[in-house]
Amino acid sequence: MDPKTVRPETLSAQALGWIDEATRAITPPVHVSSTYLRDADNGFRSGRIYARADNPAYDQAEAVLAHLEQGSRAMLFASGMAAATAVFQALDPGDHVLAPRVMYWSLRNWLMTFATRWGLQVEFIDMTSPQAVQAAVRPGRTRLVWVETPANPLWTVTDIAATAAIAHAAGARLAVDSTVATPVLTRPLALGADIVMHAATKYLNGHSDLVAGALVTREQDDYWTRLRAVRAQVGGTLGSFEAWLLLRGMRTLHLRVRAACAAAERIARHFDGHPLVAEVLYPGLPQAQGHAVAASQMEGGFGGMLSIRARGGEAAAIGTAAHTALWKRATSLGGVESLIEHRASIEGAGTPAPTDLLRLSVGIEHADDLIADLEQALRLAHG
Ligand SMILES: *Cc1c(COP(=O)(O)O)cnc(C)c1O
Repeated sequence: MDPKTVRPETLSAQALGWIDEATRAITPPVHVSSTYLRDADNGFRSGRIYARADNPAYDQAEAVLAHLEQGSRAMLFASGMAAATAVFQALDPGDHVLAPRVMYWSLRNWLMTFATRWGLQVEFIDMTSPQAVQAAVRPGRTRLVWVETPANPLWTVTDIAATAAIAHAAGARLAVDSTVATPVLTRPLALGADIVMHAATKYLNGHSDLVAGALVTREQDDYWTRLRAVRAQVGGTLGSFEAWLLLRGMRTLHLRVRAACAAAERIARHFDGHPLVAEVLYPGLPQAQGHAVAASQMEGGFGGMLSIRARGGEAAAIGTAAHTALWKRATSLGGVESLIEHRASIEGAGTPAPTDLLRLSVGIEHADDLIADLEQALRLAHG
């Protein structure tokens, strides 16, 4: 298969069309070796030494993801957090970085605690405003701008191309957490980003049965070499079986993301203006913050994630989640089964999530079933 001529759906369905040369197997084996034979001349013909640095079990999944993101190389990690924190650990103490006020909660916590103790100068800003980014960058001092779009849990949208231009003019790199958009909807590297990060736990795998992360780079530069060293030295390496499952999950990525987008859009429209719902947060709604930017940088849908704010406040929100049957009360996102979560409960003090907010991860079930289940839950919660 020539990955330059086939479409992304074909590329991911056949996982680049690779076959196992040794056995002619269509599905790759699971390589589990932790170590590799040293040659008699003291070299390593295989190019591999030890599985903390590298693992053939990653090759195909990394190649598929690099192609889907239109990058030059990808790297798998033990979790989304291992991938994201590597991006910051490849910087130096004293470096200034910009991060969004609205972002994935665990990473924000890590930036406020570990990264700050370690000496990074982390500044949280309104990343949805290019003016705010422009005002906050310190030319020559800012090394990294971190963007998440659409961003947890309000699904705010950041203009990747505009932010990349500002970052680059100041001598900084732009990294994008594209977990929610997936390469199906947005290719941040083509829009000017330098690094794309994925919680592969979510849509890339899609079946809520593993934890994994990934980075993709536009260029194999010194920074990428540093990132490879972080993975090899810190040891946030993915298990071989998880890498195999992730590759299998990615074969159906396009089907799953398209189905989730279509259902999410129907659900958002259905509950927009609903008497028991105060607000629907979804970038696909015309009144949403960043809708125009989303329409231009997301192709084929606005994602499978949305939030609804229940009329009646926190009690009504928690009560609604309590009465759903199809929507499973659980954290995480991007699986084939739909999840509902009272986000303020899990994020705790300082969360940007209003207490009446329910985060919805739309799966691939029939949208009418999901709508009916949420309808009856809202009604029961309101007595
Ligand atoms: C889940 C998630 C992460 C962290 O990924 P893990 O695999 O749970 O470590 C980072 N960013 C976003 C947007 C996520 O949804």
